[in-house]
Amino acid sequence: MAAPSFSAIPVPAPHPPLTDSHGRVIHDLRVSITDRCNYKCVYCRTGEVGAQYPELAIEEYLRLIAVFVGLGITKVRLTGGEPLLRRGLVDLVRELSRLRTLDCDPLDLALTTNGHLLESLAQPLKDAGLDRVTVSMDAVDASTFERITRVEGSFSKVLAGVRAARAAGLTPLKINCVLLRGFNDDQIEGFARFAREENVVVRFIEFMPLEEGRLWTPEIVVTLREIVDRIGRALPLVELPPREASETARRYTFADGVGEIGIIAPVSQAFCGACSRVRLTSDGKIRTCLFSQVEHDLYGRLRAGAGDEELRAYIVRTIQEKEARHHIGEPGFLKPSRSMVHIGG
Ligand code: SAM
Repeated sequence: MAAPSFSAIPVPAPHPPLTDSHGRVIHDLRVSITDRCNYKCVYCRTGEVGAQYPELAIEEYLRLIAVFVGLGITKVRLTGGEPLLRRGLVDLVRELSRLRTLDCDPLDLALTTNGHLLESLAQPLKDAGLDRVTVSMDAVDASTFERITRVEGSFSKVLAGVRAARAAGLTPLKINCVLLRGFNDDQIEGFARFAREENVVVRFIEFMPLEEGRLWTPEIVVTLREIVDRIGRALPLVELPPREASETARRYTFADGVGEIGIIAPVSQAFCGACSRVRLTSDGKIRTCLFSQVEHDLYGRLRAGAGDEELRAYIVRTIQEKEARHHIGEPGFLKPSRSMVHIGG
């Protein structure tokens, strides 16, 4: 039998990237799977009961995420509310780990959590196919931490969760810390030491006006410049080059190369021009920006019986409407109708 010619080898059909009207390629999807939370962080929630919006069935999140992946999404981050509260999470991760991107690669599958329930869930999540976790931790001493979360005993639970995640191989392990002047800005140097001792990447995030209450002022934000200067005085820093254009964090290591910190500065150094993200809320609405004034009801279409083709067309149209940038700190700035816990951070 004649050997097959090269022209007989199937070549995957080229697929146009999912782009918005500003030319940005969208490849990163954040999905909230509940807006309930077991913490009442002072900068996030007023302390009232969490859930305000309905949750979809796990199979419905899976179906919607698969449609996004079929359009070019390569990274999926599960979030909330607190995603570890959601029943069926491990099954969802297992099913998501079976999806393939348009280039036939596995998805980059990550999760953001407050870590309270992570000690027992880290290994099952890893076994189900989760790649990485980011744990939110806003202080390195127990009393400051528990003043922020307003949950007694939370510090030791989260520390145990961080260590279990590292032991399970959910790495590189990132710690998110939102700094607020007068609340936890005395923790900056302690976090730099924590990054080195615990072998984690600490990422400081500038506080954005997305809280349920009314705490945000420009003065309460601890900016990138201030963080770098303060750590640099205690432990000299060396800036690392970005790994990709859409990277949100400015990354630094220490002079001896041990440890890494990152700073995400959406307020003082906005990175909207390189934004590659879109969000799906726990009730199935697409949000094209954290600060969007409009939401797009993808789940409504699913419930009305739309097929994948119709859902795809709706997503493509919606992404076209992605906002050019946010307007934090500008006259006329409007807070979105949902706070961070109900959008999915
Ligand atoms: N419950 C999970 C957690 O604690 O990580 C996931 C949801 S939480 C809303 C996601 C991230 O958003 C956390 O790291 C949290 O600190 C951050 N966050 C909440 N409100 C914020 C705000 N107003 N500005 C900046 N980051 C915020």
